[in-house]
Amino acid sequence: MISQDTKLSSQDLMELEDKYGAHNYHPLPVVLARGEGVFVYDVEGKKYYDFLSSYSAVNQGHCHPRIINALTEQAKKLTLTSRAFYNDQLGVYEKYLTEFFGFEKVLPMNTGAEGVETAIKICRKWGYEKKGIPNGEAKIIVCGQNFHGRTVTIISFSSDPDAKGNFGPYTPGFQAIPYNDLDALEEILKKEAATIAGFMVEPIQGEAGVFVPDEDFIPKAAALCKEHNVLFIADEIQTGIARTGAMLRVCGDCNCQSKCERQEATYTRPDILILGKAISGGVYPVAAVLADDHIMEVIHPGQHGSTFGGNPLACAVAKEALEVIVDEKLMANARHLGNVFRERMQAMVDKSDLVNLVRGKGLLNAIVINDTETSKTAWNICVALKENGLLAKPTHGNIIRFAPPLVMTEEQLHECCDIIEKTISTF
Ligand SMILES: *Cc1c(COP(=O)(O)O)cnc(C)c1O
Repeated sequence: MISQDTKLSSQDLMELEDKYGAHNYHPLPVVLARGEGVFVYDVEGKKYYDFLSSYSAVNQGHCHPRIINALTEQAKKLTLTSRAFYNDQLGVYEKYLTEFFGFEKVLPMNTGAEGVETAIKICRKWGYEKKGIPNGEAKIIVCGQNFHGRTVTIISFSSDPDAKGNFGPYTPGFQAIPYNDLDALEEILKKEAATIAGFMVEPIQGEAGVFVPDEDFIPKAAALCKEHNVLFIADEIQTGIARTGAMLRVCGDCNCQSKCERQEATYTRPDILILGKAISGGVYPVAAVLADDHIMEVIHPGQHGSTFGGNPLACAVAKEALEVIVDEKLMANARHLGNVFRERMQAMVDKSDLVNLVRGKGLLNAIVINDTETSKTAWNICVALKENGLLAKPTHGNIIRFAPPLVMTEEQLHECCDIIEKTISTF
């Protein structure tokens, strides 16, 4: 028995997780107890720069005072009504969110995977009821190396053997084409458009290793979809909410300063937009699926939902979290700091035999280590970075993602680049 008043060490706490928790993750050996802005602190009080931001959920920084205040104020009043009744936060939030992103309707959910499932259901139903696809034949095109979440349906179209292995039988109705391959998309649309309901894509593939497609991939893919009456579905769960320097990555290299301006020259409008992660600043699980009426109207009462989806706590938190993005001009900061970061990393790549390249947009970046996919080098570098006060995690054996909170200052970013350079020079 562990007595309540014994202070547990990091070692104790890791042993507890190991003994009592399912081993469905392989965490870096650090136990965090507190977070503030760009910093997290472990149980022993050691301070680290967070360069993962909980997979880009904490874009606004840890425990942002305005978001925490919205959470606690709402928590004192009303937390959950279910959708059996109306609540005084949901409609206000829905108006704010739809106007913010320029869509007519939103369907609120909790986790990202639920958002993706929701988009798939809406897309299929639209395929049967609006496009006239014969019953049971609707297909959704996806991309190789995708990451859209962990449910059975979503892993059914994953190309990662760990994500997929021995979880079958799989959900049919998905077909993968290579990412960033317009010819492959055009070919399948030309041949099979009559039964294709949608094309779902990450505008930058985060989990695949921050793979940035060609500049024209997203706009041209959307245009091809439109031509063939196929819904273009953007999964912006990781790339959205200012992470890549624009409010959404489908905004392209837009240079808007605060509120999303959706500049015509760069903006690609998805038919269905999926958001999660940083829409709540990492404070509470919130996801949203946005679309216009002619698509969303296929969903009627009883056909989809969630007990917690659209609850008053989620609504209050997400609204405040988006206002923080705008008020603190985090898009412009992500854009500027991203350029600084890649410039510094490129200088390191030019000198180093160990690091092959740096890539990314805004503050979603990765470096590729000169080693095999199955090597331990990236992991060992991340352990050494941890010792030097910076937390990052490999996405693959040889790729390290760097995605700090967007509230970082330029001075802090330079200090982080110093840590990364110094650490890598010891390998
Ligand atoms: C994280 C992520 C998801 C899944 O979100 P969860 O909240 O973990 O279910 C889906 N798509 C992308 C692109 C993601 O990065």
